[in-house]
Amino acid sequence: MITLITNIEVYAPEYLGEVDVLITDKRIAAIEADLQSKMSAPDSIFNTIDGRGKVLMPGLVDSLVHITGGGGEGGFHTRTPQMQLTDATLGGVTTLVGVLGTDATTRTLSDLLAKAHALETEGLSTYCHTGSYQLPARTVLDNVTDDIILIDKFVGIGEVAIADHRSSQLRSSELMRVASEARVGGMISGKAGIVSIHVGDSDSMLHLLHDAIEKSDLPVTQFYPTHINRNQALVDAGIEWAKGGGYIDFTTSTNQKFIDEGEMLAAHALAYCLKQGVPVSQLTMSSDGNASLPVFDDNGELVGLEVGRVRSLYEALQQAVLEFDVPMELAVASVTRSPADLLKLKHKGRIEVGADADLVIATKDRLLLEQVYAKGRCLVSEGRAIVKGTFE
Ligand code: ZN
Repeated sequence: MITLITNIEVYAPEYLGEVDVLITDKRIAAIEADLQSKMSAPDSIFNTIDGRGKVLMPGLVDSLVHITGGGGEGGFHTRTPQMQLTDATLGGVTTLVGVLGTDATTRTLSDLLAKAHALETEGLSTYCHTGSYQLPARTVLDNVTDDIILIDKFVGIGEVAIADHRSSQLRSSELMRVASEARVGGMISGKAGIVSIHVGDSDSMLHLLHDAIEKSDLPVTQFYPTHINRNQALVDAGIEWAKGGGYIDFTTSTNQKFIDEGEMLAAHALAYCLKQGVPVSQLTMSSDGNASLPVFDDNGELVGLEVGRVRSLYEALQQAVLEFDVPMELAVASVTRSPADLLKLKHKGRIEVGADADLVIATKDRLLLEQVYAKGRCLVSEGRAIVKGTFE
């Protein structure tokens, strides 16, 4: 199938103006103005899409999704369900990183890998992290380094929890050791080898990360802390971390109680950090999809539970542009090229010749999602899923 999208405004994520985009097989083959008029082949061999009044952006890269479900902090009946294909595609997500969470006993890395392969078969591009909240890390092979080098889908470790009553109450030396194992695994296999860090709500915030950087030879980019929009103090600590060259990630799944308690919306945090001078290459948003959103009382007892949604990532992109006045190219970068680059996914998160044809078409005015392509295949058309998961 050859698809030609004509006269569409492209955010690659940088603004390319109104151009035509040609997709052949799974890749972007050409991006040019008036491409249609230069084609010698008859129109009938193309699936042509009129892009006037619409915008084209890369498929979203979601760096943290509990694809096999998460939670369980309130007993077995509170384990959250697995995600389904359309949870991602209806929110324009075409690439994601699956992780375990608090529970690495009833949730396993084998199951995580199987689910990632299933989603890949159904149409997405999927990766995973080895390990979980706790250290010593759960692994499939003997250690973190071997997992990252020898198992294709593993690109790093995490989310390792710090500043949280559910973490392993780590010392920085333990964090340094696992980070070096991930780093070497990444170097040898040509992958990111990054350590995804779940930052909880304790006052220690990012202290452990600063300590690990100061006391080791590890670069600041070795760590990728998430949930930084948890409260204003953590956002400010995140800005300090970013000014030292580190990445920070904001979580888009939320609920009213979290916001009432001081959580900053991810779109708001993105706008705020950009205004404070943090480059977008160090700022990302992720959905934390299918995580539990547990509500604890002052004694750490679970009193409520909701489920994170992958689609919240696209809603945060809309909100950033339409409500928080983030320039379109920067908002798009935070959910496409920035996460793709730090995860070392060279063909993802960008619209350029040779990149994977992972694309989202949306209306220009309100950014309503219309079509989603993943590796050249149309999965969503006119806002509806035309390809569904095996059990949807
Ligand atoms: Zn987390």
